[in-house]
Amino acid sequence: MSINLNDYYSADEWNLIKSEAAKHETPFLVVNLDIIRKSCQELKRFFPYAKIYYAVKSNPAPEVISLLRDLGVNFDIASRYELDRVLSLEVSPDRISYGNTIKKATDIRYFYEKGVRLFATDSEYDLRNIAKEAPGSKVFFRILSEGGETADWPLSRKFGCHPDMAIDLVILAKTLNLDPYGISFHVGSQQREIGAWDSAIAKVRYIFNYLNGENIQLKMINMGGGFPANYISKTNEMDVYAEEITRYLTEDFGDDLPEIILEPGRSMVAEAGVLVSEVVLVSKKSATGIDKWLYTDVGRFNGLVETFDESIKYPLYCEARGEYCEDFIIAGPTCDSQDIMYEYFRNPLPAYIKPTDRIYWLTCGAYTASYAAVEFNGFPPLKTYFVGGK
Ligand SMILES: *Cc1c(COP(=O)(O)O)cnc(C)c1O
Repeated sequence: MSINLNDYYSADEWNLIKSEAAKHETPFLVVNLDIIRKSCQELKRFFPYAKIYYAVKSNPAPEVISLLRDLGVNFDIASRYELDRVLSLEVSPDRISYGNTIKKATDIRYFYEKGVRLFATDSEYDLRNIAKEAPGSKVFFRILSEGGETADWPLSRKFGCHPDMAIDLVILAKTLNLDPYGISFHVGSQQREIGAWDSAIAKVRYIFNYLNGENIQLKMINMGGGFPANYISKTNEMDVYAEEITRYLTEDFGDDLPEIILEPGRSMVAEAGVLVSEVVLVSKKSATGIDKWLYTDVGRFNGLVETFDESIKYPLYCEARGEYCEDFIIAGPTCDSQDIMYEYFRNPLPAYIKPTDRIYWLTCGAYTASYAAVEFNGFPPLKTYFVGGK
């Protein structure tokens, strides 16, 4: 069974993408800005009480940043390079957070000098750097969270500290004349288990309570990203996430919520992008070989990094050669044996698919173009074309 295009795009959305795709040589990404606008408006409707900080790393294209800027979104930034990009698009620094807990003292100073006053941290060394290079700034403290097993792209182990350490850091921040502002967590990207937010919010409640006893009142909860995009592995719909997460929040914090921040990346931009590729070769390894190998002109190093460990299972769509499908091992074009997207997970494709046939990788707007190598084997970075957004 191959996928049903209607599960992913409306006829209008697809036609716009398709007609742009017809103009260009593969491989490339087409981003339909109308779909990003729709995702953004939906998220605002589902979380009317939250401030949105778009995680720029998921798709840092100027077209995307400008659209979200005009929709009133704020920006979560991880490096001075992202900062330069976003500031050059006339976003004011009071709409920016420096959300990376791993940063040089010189980077903190750079952000401070550009006017940014909201910083994430999860360690004493970094906190002391913030106190020194960005005096008086608001700081939020990232805690470790569970959910690594149910997130398709976990982010929960490398970042964050134990809640007790976060408490110590908050108290220290106060003595360093910083403004200890809130607590953040990220339950892991493409988090399929909504309960991951429940346990994280409970930890935040514990921290708020403890600090109340120390006469410190935190003002904000940053619930990170992790909201789903529509891939092969099913998830609940966004409205179910919103309803459940809102319930967890009100159970723990009542109706008098602190400021709530969301940092969506994937859920904001993934569905807007389609990666268009072409089949280069279909072959077998021996006359009696069972497996059919299919090589495309896009691979793990020019856009499909998130197929590492076959983590993200992109829906594949192919118009050519009829309905009858078979399984293929799908690999990229470079001379690297890691450049195999799917070997164990088998995406069905038309049995008689041939070189030069096009394969459309759906839901590819996040973590593709920005992740592509600059010239591995001489292949250029992935190009992006934009449609919609008017
Ligand atoms: C990557 C990242 C995000 C975005 O996560 P998604 O799962 O793509 O929504 C949000 N916040 C931080 C701190 C991140 O590093």
